[in-house]
Amino acid sequence: MVGITFLGGAREVGRMGILLESRESRILWEYGVNVQTMDVPTDPGTNLDGVFVTHAHLDHSGCVPVLYKEGYKGNVYATPPTFELMSLLLRDAVKVQKKKGLQPQFLPHDIEKTERMRKTIKFGQTLEFGRDSVTAYSAGHIPGAASYLFESEGKRILFTGDIKFIGTKLVGPAFSGYKDIDVLITESTYSYKNHPDREETLDKLREAVQETLYNNGIALLPAFAVGRTQELLINLSDLGFSIYLDGMGIEATDRMLAHPKYLSNPSLLRRAFSRAHKIERQSERNRIVKKPCVIITTAGMMNGGPVSFYMKKLHDREDCSLLLTGYMVEGTVGRTLMDTGRYMNGEIDVEPKMRMEFFDLSAHTDRQHIIEFIEKTEPKRIMLVHGDHNPEFEKFLRSRGFDAHAPRMGESVEV
Ligand SMILES: [Zn+2]
Repeated sequence: MVGITFLGGAREVGRMGILLESRESRILWEYGVNVQTMDVPTDPGTNLDGVFVTHAHLDHSGCVPVLYKEGYKGNVYATPPTFELMSLLLRDAVKVQKKKGLQPQFLPHDIEKTERMRKTIKFGQTLEFGRDSVTAYSAGHIPGAASYLFESEGKRILFTGDIKFIGTKLVGPAFSGYKDIDVLITESTYSYKNHPDREETLDKLREAVQETLYNNGIALLPAFAVGRTQELLINLSDLGFSIYLDGMGIEATDRMLAHPKYLSNPSLLRRAFSRAHKIERQSERNRIVKKPCVIITTAGMMNGGPVSFYMKKLHDREDCSLLLTGYMVEGTVGRTLMDTGRYMNGEIDVEPKMRMEFFDLSAHTDRQHIIEFIEKTEPKRIMLVHGDHNPEFEKFLRSRGFDAHAPRMGESVEV
């Protein structure tokens, strides 16, 4: 018998936390934070045999140092690129919390404690905990992203993490050849809709960038440091325009390039990155907004980072464009802009005159592909996490004959 407790990420996107308890082990899958509300998962205690992180994004990793702060003495497991990117994002999170005047959830020395207890796991590798085991598989979402398979007393429980079944120019497709799965715990971010064709969307984005630059404007692309920045860079690099990279995406790209095995085409990224101009000083920012160019910059949800400076300078310029491509959490500056057409950030509250367009370039699976995966895998039970529309998806899967369930926050099930 394995007990599965959903500590977070139940019927919501973000702050993941899943506790597995068997006779042999007590394993925590992820310990993330809601990056907008700063809500955290329920405390699992420090009596754990291991903590596994699927990938670096803070909604999956952002609370791991809290465990060490509270006295957890065991290891944290992830792939090598996940560890490097996670360290970058965690340090930035402390800075952001301080800047906002919030009490940081943990301090740099808690991050250091976390780093000392790192144990890497590679795709295809199995780690044993007594008679239980955990195996890592590629999940496609961003470089280093893993799905984990937990085996205990003949039960096979798979957690997808954030998953994408289609390969991109940045990262290959997720592994999907699982057999005999008793319980599938799957992310369901986009269980309610399909993504448009990725190549067509990228073509449209490239067109929008070209039009803007031919009109002597600036194309501004807010992007997550980890994942989206690199994909945009690869896909816009060959257009022949000056591309400026600003914010944490520069360091994140450097760290990704240190792990070429986890990229689908490392030389593409290396070339695009070496061609891009990296912005380090405010004087450079002031200079580049004076001529046509492409700017890829953090923060992806527009809540902070250099994008705030660029918006201040460019929002009333009709010749410029704001090209959005990322997931926007409710309540963020970017989401409010998409929903209301108003850019509200601190003292600024304006209706931007620049051209604004959204391009759906999600790094998550969509409805069609998750259904195909479920039909191919035929798990005995399905638990839906990491989604705002999970009860509807549960209903749909049940109508198709699957034993699906959308657990609530804090709920435990035994399998
Ligand atoms: Zn993610």
